[in-house]
Amino acid sequence: MGSSGQHREIVKAMVASFGKAHQARIETGVSQVLERWRREDGSSPVLREFCLTHFVCEPPQLQNLLERFEKNLSVVMGNYHRIYRTLNWPLHVDAGPMSPVDHLFANFDVYAHLEDDLYQTRLAFVLLLNFPLAELEEKEGAGATWERLKWAQTRLVERIADRVPAAVKQQRTAAYTAVEDYIYHYNIHMDALRDSQGNSCFPEGKVLISHWGLRDEIKAAYVEDGGLGRQEMIYKIMERIISQEIPGDVIGNGHLHWYPESNRVVDPRNGEEIVVGAGRNRRYEALRSVFLAEKKLDDYMPALPTLIDRRFRQDREILENDVEELLKTVLSAPVLKDVAELIRTRLGRPLQPFDIWYSEFRDGEGIAESELDRRVQAAYPNLAAFKEKMGDLLITLGFTPEKAAYLQSMIEVDPARGAGHAMGGGMPQDAAHLRTRVPAGGMDYKGFNTAMHELGHTVEQVFSMNEIDYFSLNGVPNTAFTEAFAFIFQDRDLEVLGLKEQGGSEDWRTLHGIWQTMEIAGVALLDMKIWRWMYRHPDADARVLKEAVVKMANTIWNTYFAPVLGVRDSAVLAIYSHLIFCGMYTPDYALGHIIAFQIESFLQNRSLAVEMERMCRLGRIAPQVWMKAAVGEALSAQPLIDAASHALENLRMPAGGE
Ligand SMILES: [Zn+2]
Repeated sequence: MGSSGQHREIVKAMVASFGKAHQARIETGVSQVLERWRREDGSSPVLREFCLTHFVCEPPQLQNLLERFEKNLSVVMGNYHRIYRTLNWPLHVDAGPMSPVDHLFANFDVYAHLEDDLYQTRLAFVLLLNFPLAELEEKEGAGATWERLKWAQTRLVERIADRVPAAVKQQRTAAYTAVEDYIYHYNIHMDALRDSQGNSCFPEGKVLISHWGLRDEIKAAYVEDGGLGRQEMIYKIMERIISQEIPGDVIGNGHLHWYPESNRVVDPRNGEEIVVGAGRNRRYEALRSVFLAEKKLDDYMPALPTLIDRRFRQDREILENDVEELLKTVLSAPVLKDVAELIRTRLGRPLQPFDIWYSEFRDGEGIAESELDRRVQAAYPNLAAFKEKMGDLLITLGFTPEKAAYLQSMIEVDPARGAGHAMGGGMPQDAAHLRTRVPAGGMDYKGFNTAMHELGHTVEQVFSMNEIDYFSLNGVPNTAFTEAFAFIFQDRDLEVLGLKEQGGSEDWRTLHGIWQTMEIAGVALLDMKIWRWMYRHPDADARVLKEAVVKMANTIWNTYFAPVLGVRDSAVLAIYSHLIFCGMYTPDYALGHIIAFQIESFLQNRSLAVEMERMCRLGRIAPQVWMKAAVGEALSAQPLIDAASHALENLRMPAGGE
């Protein structure tokens, strides 16, 4: 870090050399450099010489500088991406048996030294000297009228703006890895559970991970005989996990019988009760370790001195208050009470806290999955057929034959080893890769449905990489925006299969959408409150943290959820594993739903093909600016809320009504 004397001295020399007219830019540039220049980067005279050599005054030269960086970085990034794609191919693509070295290659991180290289070559300092960083408020305000060039300069310098020592980053990675390991091994042996009568309620061998597995079991139980009893038992388990009363010995252990209701543990070999030790609060120790690891970064990021700042101002680029307002708007929507009433009627019982996961929003049976499989088999028997017919499929969605052919040529289709994903190209002219899973017997509806989702991603990726004016602006503002396009394509899967006339299904989907958004908005609000609390109480131990989390979860529940579901006092929102191991990621899920819905509702009566291409050309500008340019209004939860009201009206209308 340089002294203010050094700053004055360099600025003075530069103003003498370049002229008073450039003083403001010089001041900013020198500050940005000094904040990151370390002793090993060079002595004071070296630093001064560097600034005098690399400061660029006139707009045409600045434009040249940007273009040189764009060209060279696109080659670096694009080829790194190709290496990454190739080294990870066996992990991502189902291309025969894997070899043990494939995992070693996957650990080969080509990006690991990029930032160091850019600083050691001083390329990063050239950017910092010439292109000013901007606060989010400025990007959202003045950014609306910025020229594209200004956006490109800002994105370029932002890419290298953080200079955190590798050791600090490694400590953070290690903390997250340890907590991830704890979360990913938090399994409950359901067959070892006993109800108050001592009966087993779950099939032999069933093991569920908290919280995903437990939550999905609650969802599935709505249509099963005796489902309510199992839901209540799972809810009790969740309460025990949140409060850390869960006996440590039953986690990942199927040899002991656990009675969640009374919290007794019995050894089935001798029928003896095991004395359960006091809770160890490991869950909250894990959360605290993530907090402490993030806090270590604070000192190195003067402009973003907390994780809260980094998440909102840097990663998602939406102001904390705006996000909170959006979440509260959803959570306070009066229509939620009507949706709850509908669920209550369908279930024929008062709602319970776990009904935030109710998901049986549908009319009758719908189309049987076997019929859908048949349709898919006939039209797209395998991935080769999907690739070959992709052009026609895109024409069905409204793309011109030329555009459809172009997209088809830029999207490769690979069999996924996992569930499926989309990998965009790393530079212009580099194809995007659409990956979906194909069972041995050929493509089924699930694989096709995923393929449609990934097609939405890849079309966005092709447009926003190849039709963009500046490489630094490639992409969309954040993941929520690309998910929106993916959902829009996925929702049109029946249309593509020639089954457009499935009346009512859209209304049910909308109700499911708002109910899901309510649930995750509550979790997101809790996540934000937890991080604020931890920053206010950096020294609080795990027990105190636990008590605070439980209290905050109850407060959010009683404020927003109790009026809707009609039941008070629950900490269930705190069950989310993401709260522990994702460093305040959950607001992105809630924003994803809201953004997707807003874009979808804008596209409702417009041409998907035309509008999507226009939106993708906006590139990675600030989310609020993107939104206004794309759909004509700032981020808003209102389209989702309005659509839910309409959906309820439609569903209330008697069959055959207008
Ligand atoms: Zn997706």
